[in-house]
Amino acid sequence: MIINADLHIHSRFSGATSDKMSIETLSVEAPRKGIQIVATGDCLHSGWMKEIKSCSVVDDGTFELNGTRFILSTEIEDQRRVHHLFYFSSISAVETFKERIKSKSKNLETDGRPNVNMSGEELASIAKDVDVLIGPAHAFTPWTAMYAYHDSLKDCYGDLADYVSFVELGLSADTDFADKIQELHRLTFLTNSDSHSPHPVRLAREFNRFEVKDATFDEIKKAILRVGGNKPVLNVGLPPQEGKYHESACISCYTHYTLDEAIRRRWKCSCGKQIKKGVKDRINEMADFAEPHHPDHRPPYVHLIPLAEIITKAIGQHTPFTQAVSKRWNELISVFGSEINVLIDADINEIAKFTAPAITEAIQAFREKKVIIRPGGGGQYGTIELSGEAMDTKFTLQPKDTQKSLLDY
Ligand SMILES: [Zn+2]
Ligand SMILES: [Zn+2]
Repeated sequence: MIINADLHIHSRFSGATSDKMSIETLSVEAPRKGIQIVATGDCLHSGWMKEIKSCSVVDDGTFELNGTRFILSTEIEDQRRVHHLFYFSSISAVETFKERIKSKSKNLETDGRPNVNMSGEELASIAKDVDVLIGPAHAFTPWTAMYAYHDSLKDCYGDLADYVSFVELGLSADTDFADKIQELHRLTFLTNSDSHSPHPVRLAREFNRFEVKDATFDEIKKAILRVGGNKPVLNVGLPPQEGKYHESACISCYTHYTLDEAIRRRWKCSCGKQIKKGVKDRINEMADFAEPHHPDHRPPYVHLIPLAEIITKAIGQHTPFTQAVSKRWNELISVFGSEINVLIDADINEIAKFTAPAITEAIQAFREKKVIIRPGGGGQYGTIELSGEAMDTKFTLQPKDTQKSLLDY
């Protein structure tokens, strides 16, 4: 069977998250985005674990509420500020793991995304002992990621580098960027939302499509490890230009710089503040190849723009967090079932019957790749513009492919 999974979110027990981030809300919102499996995040936190335990048990590592399945996961920040993702086979594995790191953390019970005074190698070593999957989160971002502080997997995970089975690309990168780096070729790429809110512009803005025999932890683990015929069949995510750290830019006034300019200015903006190295520049710095070389196992990558963002532009709102946008989004979801259906699969003439002409046109423009993206950087998301004509620039969506039906993969 084919499933869609968002394997990185945060609960309301993590910093800077929406208080609406409950298991109940996620269980209702995920299917509206077209997602069957959500990784819980924050599973080391007792309060969040209590909520996870309120779900019905499918098996040791799989939980269910309102038809949405959850698997156990957390993100941890190590002593170098590198973020790592973990996937656990059972609640007892979570407890054993927690026991092993307890003395090295001061905020295990107060922050869903705890800090530990340990290295990546030490964390990977415990993960291996407890049979937990580990990999770098949003691997290329400039503040809290593996490649911000290390030049290789080996530099981060030491002798345990071989145990790492996946890398999360983060919003500012995609497969074409990451496959310029040779050491990543053996790893499975994960595309997850890292959402701090259940709002449809955030939740499942990136997700993975897996081929599995059942929607359970064991089957997803096999898909990540690509064994027993299970595998990722599609990565889905924002165009990387939309990410907050795609280009090098000032963290205060968001002026963008080329890598050469930034180096010449010693990473200091004309306004006096710091220029943060963008994911694009960081990847090109480390690239083994000028063009991406995809290994045979690598699935296609499909770029999606959240429907709420498309509606926002179509009806002239400034943010997607307005009632007007929600109303229009809900109208379409109630008819077509899920966001993926509206964006990709539903007949445009059918869509036109249920929404405003401007929204139909905007969805059509997205499908025809007539969307221009002004790249993000310095912590500011990229923005989209709907144009009347297909733009033949590097910021155009899917320059090579047409947006095939997601169901084709
Ligand atoms: Zn993180
Ligand atoms: Zn500046």
